[in-house]
Amino acid sequence: MDSIPLVHASLGEQELAAVAEVFASGWPAGQGPRGKALEAQLAQKYGVADAVAVSNCGAALHLAMLAFGVKPGDEVIVADYGFPAPAQAALYVGATPVFADVRPDTYTVDPQAVADLVTERTVGIIAVDTVGMPADYAELQAVADRHGLFLVEDAACAVGATYQGRQAGALAEVGCLSFHGRKGASSGEGGALLAADPKIGADARLRSSFGIGSIFDMGEVVGLPIPTFTEIGYNFKLSDIASAILQVQLGRIDELLQRRDTVARQYAELLADDDLLSVPYVPNDRTHAWQTYMVTLDAGVDRGAVATELRGQGIGCGHGTFAGHIQPVFEAKQKCPVSADLAARQLAIPMHAELTQDQVARVAQALRSAVRTHASTGRRAA
Ligand SMILES: *Cc1c(COP(=O)(O)O)cnc(C)c1O
Repeated sequence: MDSIPLVHASLGEQELAAVAEVFASGWPAGQGPRGKALEAQLAQKYGVADAVAVSNCGAALHLAMLAFGVKPGDEVIVADYGFPAPAQAALYVGATPVFADVRPDTYTVDPQAVADLVTERTVGIIAVDTVGMPADYAELQAVADRHGLFLVEDAACAVGATYQGRQAGALAEVGCLSFHGRKGASSGEGGALLAADPKIGADARLRSSFGIGSIFDMGEVVGLPIPTFTEIGYNFKLSDIASAILQVQLGRIDELLQRRDTVARQYAELLADDDLLSVPYVPNDRTHAWQTYMVTLDAGVDRGAVATELRGQGIGCGHGTFAGHIQPVFEAKQKCPVSADLAARQLAIPMHAELTQDQVARVAQALRSAVRTHASTGRRAA
């Protein structure tokens, strides 16, 4: 039987044609015509003052911390359940990440947990749209406003999702997107910072190119003014090759998301009645981008054995996502029991836009059978 991968980036002929055009143009590096066009496309799509194309979402989060002036001794409250890039970003600038637990039903950060962690050293909050599910931005913004904190949306997984009719990525004053090969729109590696305040966007763009402006633009200037380096900068630029790929991918977001949404509906239909696992819940006021589809196994099911069995049948799977507070690098003092429990029990099953109905049915059937085989005896009899 053919194998069914956990993830698959939908890149094809259209993206290849866009790359060929960049080759012909002679400007493959960043902040050239394609990069600028992508930034304009993103700013327009998201209705934000500025969009900065960068090398990855980790860089976007780092630039956000720099733009908000986060410094050593500051505390940044981060959502615990998700790829722990936000906590890393706090560490890049010498601040302390403080981990807030998540809601057991949506896996997104619990606004009350955030409010409870605010101290006089807190400067901001980074919420995560967990595997594509937007967090509770109305409540989070209220906490941020009450205490004068910045709010960043890590929308790495959420391209295409919505919250109260608004697009994920534009739900806070700064949104960070990822275009990594495992996300809903991809250029292999890539990211963007979306800013409601043009000053934040300009700061991020300058620091993303070693603290000087676009080298492409300098080539166009009449005369030879001497460029000045005014900030400590980094090289976080996105190449024009990647930008060209993303311009095509952005045009395909709705189509790709619709296909993943169909897969999610089919899984829900085939798995909802199983008493040894539960499927994701999506509140009425938001839509999911389905970067990952995670089921939650009953506590009596041996997850490792289920994964081994699925992989033995050529079906890709993985743990859900990460509980940051238990990772040794962060030396966290907080306890996040909901996140720790989810990290122990969730299983990611194949989710991408190329899955066929038959493949989804085969995954669901194999999963139902495997959880039965690997449930503790008491549960199996039930
Ligand atoms: C994937 C991911 C990132 C990192 O994105 P890169 O583009 O690989 O740097 C950050 N945050 C979350 C929540 C992610 O899932």
